[in-house]
Amino acid sequence: MNELGQADGGRRAAVVAIDGPSGSGKSSVARAVAARLGFVYLDTGAMYRAVGLLAREAGVSPDDDEAVTEVAAAADLRVTGDGRVYAGARDLSAAIRTLAAGELASRVSALPGVRRLLAERQRALAGERGLVVEGRDIGTHVFPDAAVKIYLTASPDVRAERRLRQLLAAGHEATFSDVLADVCARDRRDSGRAVAPLRCADDAVVIDSTALTLDEVVAMVEDVVRRRLRTPEGVS
Ligand code: C5P
Repeated sequence: MNELGQADGGRRAAVVAIDGPSGSGKSSVARAVAARLGFVYLDTGAMYRAVGLLAREAGVSPDDDEAVTEVAAAADLRVTGDGRVYAGARDLSAAIRTLAAGELASRVSALPGVRRLLAERQRALAGERGLVVEGRDIGTHVFPDAAVKIYLTASPDVRAERRLRQLLAAGHEATFSDVLADVCARDRRDSGRAVAPLRCADDAVVIDSTALTLDEVVAMVEDVVRRRLRTPEGVS
């Protein structure tokens, strides 16, 4: 590879997989790390959120695999490097950031057909430039050969607090207890589902961000990535 992690002479560019539960800080960390490394950022949760919303708009049950997969396949979904999501020309970026959209995402993401389709689309985005991908199953299913795998976690209370701040900042109404209940319900559903459940890959570096600032976590992840990519076998 020439520049850090970029494609070179038939080798595909590096993938950095960041997985973890809801509110662990994955989005902020993944976005900042991608910017520092000059990699493309991909928020896979935004894709599940958009599919959940589109299914609801189409009047389809979020538990009907065939119907939701059809909606997802027909949607011209695009997730941009700055974390925005579009269905064709429609910008869904604000609409997907509600508690209700998170709940819908968590339900449609348990459907095997939907997961297969979105995982294919996610894999298709790996190519010339390095990719930082965040989600629940990136290191375990979507990119099991990712050059670097990070599992980011934090206590449920701290995760709920962070989510609450984001919701309030975006102008939504929410209380700490609602958000904490949502975080715990999503943990249960994401870890307990049959297809691609949330779990830490055996070869992931685990970072508990409960007592760390965003800058500290970003610096730790960047350090892991730089060391791994300079020594591809992972020997540092
Ligand atoms: O990360 P975010 O909270 O936006 O994700 C919304 C929901 O989408 C998660 O609770 C999870 O159920 C689902 N998801 C998933 N696999 C991914 C990304 C998100 O199942 N790779």
